[in-house]
Amino acid sequence: MNYTQYRKDVYNTALKLVEVGLIRLSSGNISMRLPDGNVAITPSSIPYDEMDYKEIVILDIDGNIVDGDHKPSVEKMLHINAYKAREDIKAVIHSHSIYSMALSLVKLEIPLINSELVPLGAPIPVVSYILPGTDLLAEKVAEPFRNRPLLKAVLLENHGTVVVGKNLKDAFQNAYNLETGAEVYHKALQTGKKIRVLSQSEFEEVYNRYYKAKQ
Ligand SMILES: [Zn+2]
Repeated sequence: MNYTQYRKDVYNTALKLVEVGLIRLSSGNISMRLPDGNVAITPSSIPYDEMDYKEIVILDIDGNIVDGDHKPSVEKMLHINAYKAREDIKAVIHSHSIYSMALSLVKLEIPLINSELVPLGAPIPVVSYILPGTDLLAEKVAEPFRNRPLLKAVLLENHGTVVVGKNLKDAFQNAYNLETGAEVYHKALQTGKKIRVLSQSEFEEVYNRYYKAKQ
């Protein structure tokens, strides 16, 4: 299988994430599930502005290198476990975006406060702190995705986010919407006033009207 286009797709998504400020230097990593069942993932420790699309690594579904000259992201098992958790997950973005990370420090899950968070299946839970890059973190991150079929994002305590999607474009939009929701929630918290959260019936109403057909 020729992986060139898939490598370019992952690389271009990384650049877009840098462009909108969700990824800085070499923090964060991106992957997609390929038609042959393998996974294309960003390499470890190469700043995105120095990266070449040819450095994207191809893994099998157990995390072994199939093709590529570089070490895959240290969080490769976090991506792999997300793919194993749900068939509909075809792309994964792990970022250290600022507002999401800030809320993770105080272990605040993001409630369903606006329409940006509807397609993410909010409330967005916080996975308790575990050393980055470990198999245990990868296992714990997969649990909420496995248990909640509509969930598209989690916060990692004192660390960052994991966002999934049905393709790279969808995962990018979900990552952007998550950070928007986190920023809005953060700003609302500053007022010290009570924050109104959408009810379950309001969620179902807006989900069924605008998002259900797109899932
Ligand atoms: Zn990280």
